[in-house]
Amino acid sequence: MRNNLRILVLHVAKVVGLFHLSRRLTRSGLRILCYHAFEFEDESSFRARMFLRPQTFAKRLEFLRDRNFPILPLEQALILLEQRKLPSCSTVITIDDGFFSVYQLALRFLKLFSVPATVYVASYYCDRGNPVFRLAVQYMFWKSRLSEIALDDLGVGLTGKVSIRDSVAEEKLIWTIIQHGETHCDEPQRRRLCELLGRQLGVDYDHIANTRIFGMMTSSEISDLIAAGVDIQLHTHRHRFPEEQSVALKELEDNRTVLEPLAGKPLRHFCYPSGIFSEKQFDWLRAAGIDSATTCQPGINSSSTEKLALVRFLDGEDISEIEFEAELYGLTELLRRIRAGLRQFIPGRSRRDARSPS
Ligand SMILES: [Zn+2]
Repeated sequence: MRNNLRILVLHVAKVVGLFHLSRRLTRSGLRILCYHAFEFEDESSFRARMFLRPQTFAKRLEFLRDRNFPILPLEQALILLEQRKLPSCSTVITIDDGFFSVYQLALRFLKLFSVPATVYVASYYCDRGNPVFRLAVQYMFWKSRLSEIALDDLGVGLTGKVSIRDSVAEEKLIWTIIQHGETHCDEPQRRRLCELLGRQLGVDYDHIANTRIFGMMTSSEISDLIAAGVDIQLHTHRHRFPEEQSVALKELEDNRTVLEPLAGKPLRHFCYPSGIFSEKQFDWLRAAGIDSATTCQPGINSSSTEKLALVRFLDGEDISEIEFEAELYGLTELLRRIRAGLRQFIPGRSRRDARSPS
């Protein structure tokens, strides 16, 4: 209901000319789009913000071309942003994680529209051949049509049966299984756990594994992407960048060990896993030779935006065309700035609270 009202308001704003006004006001800013994975079967119904249908991606690229949003390589865009020489409404495409679907589904559209993109790759699953464990577990519960699951044979220290029609009990069970797998199992044991879970839930795990809907790109697929002109950059090895400096830097180092031989050059751009970062990490990143880092905070970047906290727009299947348009035209960004400005006048709210995404 609230979303319908929002969409109606955006349509009215467009009719009265606010889109064109906001485009003019924000034209010097750099738009960075963020994608994750693309849909083979029904994944966008499972996680709409994470999986985009290939035809939606094609529509987005068509929109950017037809409405004159020039798409630039990340590095070039950042240099021009610094020099205040960016073409009007410049846009960068980034894709996080390194899913197989980038290679299999998205690459053909990047080629078709001749647009550059940066893919931030988390390298742990590269060449391991298994689906991302936690996604596979969550998807199998989502996919199951059963009303309860027997736990005795799973080997996760639980017994009896649990109703998976009770969303609270189901969520608790899902995270118990994920934590067990991630802390007590190696890769073959996690695969075995997934097979057992699939059997208990009446979901074909082998199909999930074979279709690679939650699989990552292999080294050879990453090399093909690089050969096709796609920019590969850093996203840590195990998709974590904690506040413990030695662990965070080891993640960066392990990620570089996998990716730099494929890229054939030092990699200097980074994306925080899950967008989680703190300002104290900036010095670590600079010392490690990182020039830019992207977050998941929404917004349009200006020449004064911290290069190690670049803001992006997370596109997804749950973003309607008018919402995408409002974001690219800068209207949503202006509304966010107005809201943030107003919040500064509310007693008890710090400046940081006011800037945090809603
Ligand atoms: Zn990620």
